[in-house]
Amino acid sequence: MAKAKLEYIWLDGYKPTQSLRSKTKIENNFSGKLEDCDTWSFDGSSTEQALGGSSDCLLKPVFICPDPERSKLGTPAYLVMCEVLNADGTAHESNGRATIEDDDDDFWFGFEQEYFLWNLEINKPLGFPANGYPAPQGPYYCSVGAKNAYGRDIIEEHLEYCLQAGLNVEGINAEVAAGQWEFQIFSKGAKDAGDQIWVARYLLERMGEKYGVGINWHCKPLGDTDWNGSGMHANFSNTILRTAGKKETFDKICLAFAPVVAEHIAVYGADNHLRLTGKHETQSIDQFSYGVSDRGASIRIPIVAVKKGWNGYLEDRRPNSAADPYKVAARIIKTVKGVEI
Ligand code: ADP
Ligand code: MN
Ligand code: MN
Ligand code: MN
Repeated sequence: MAKAKLEYIWLDGYKPTQSLRSKTKIENNFSGKLEDCDTWSFDGSSTEQALGGSSDCLLKPVFICPDPERSKLGTPAYLVMCEVLNADGTAHESNGRATIEDDDDDFWFGFEQEYFLWNLEINKPLGFPANGYPAPQGPYYCSVGAKNAYGRDIIEEHLEYCLQAGLNVEGINAEVAAGQWEFQIFSKGAKDAGDQIWVARYLLERMGEKYGVGINWHCKPLGDTDWNGSGMHANFSNTILRTAGKKETFDKICLAFAPVVAEHIAVYGADNHLRLTGKHETQSIDQFSYGVSDRGASIRIPIVAVKKGWNGYLEDRRPNSAADPYKVAARIIKTVKGVEI
């Protein structure tokens, strides 16, 4: 009988930052379709999602794609992103995806995921010496050459497997700090965008295992130094923004974010006060500002939106590299939906 390997992936219940977990389910004669993925369960008492006395949590498959790397071993393999449910079928409190109100996929999201490749032996980014620091920031962004770009094999292979899996990666680049990289993923639909970011993170973690390199998602792994932190800028639009045709609509939507700074920061990733300092192309965590082409603002209006006659999207620059894209999207949608145009 034809067998397939399905990797069920979910987010654990750790606070303030949830991590990826996964386990393998073998299926006979699997169709490759989401509707043929059974609900499964796991021991929630081992992931901070349940108590030992009633430990079962449910895994509800919500996204599937091929796992091209694992399939190379011979048996067809798939990655199955799941929501976590309580035993009674209701959404678990750790389930950010279930809080997204985007019923008609009107919201489009492009996330720019930054991260550091991490030398686990010396606990520093790839490219850093065991003692001290490499040359200051400047040459690393979008660099080429062994002196400035570190870990290209890893990110190149990651990109290839993301594309083969069908993830909508739109680009990658070396970032401002040594050992820091970025990939961008875009999707028409908030849940799907979040699913794809999590699966891409999963593939990157696994690539790290293969190369013996850590993936550091922390937003400021080098602390209070002159080295950039990592963000996950959230670019977003809905029909209103895409067809606004006037500056006032953009102003109105941006201004709606001003009174709810705390609500947004609450889901924009742990330790963000270390990153949103007003330096390194960020706005301070307790301030709100927006502006055209302004990379020191909380929300940037991309110049292309203005050039297209005030039609386009916005970039919330505050979400950090360790934020949950589901929760980020859910909060942005809530704020934008509250605006009367
Ligand atoms: P930068 O580094 O200049 O901030 P990037 O090119 O890294 O910008 O990322 C821009 C992101 O914006 C891409 O992921 C892209 O998919 C996304 N984007 C473009 N148009 C839209 C749109 N209409 N709605 C949502 N996201 C969009
Ligand atoms: Mn970018
Ligand atoms: Mn970037
Ligand atoms: Mn950006």
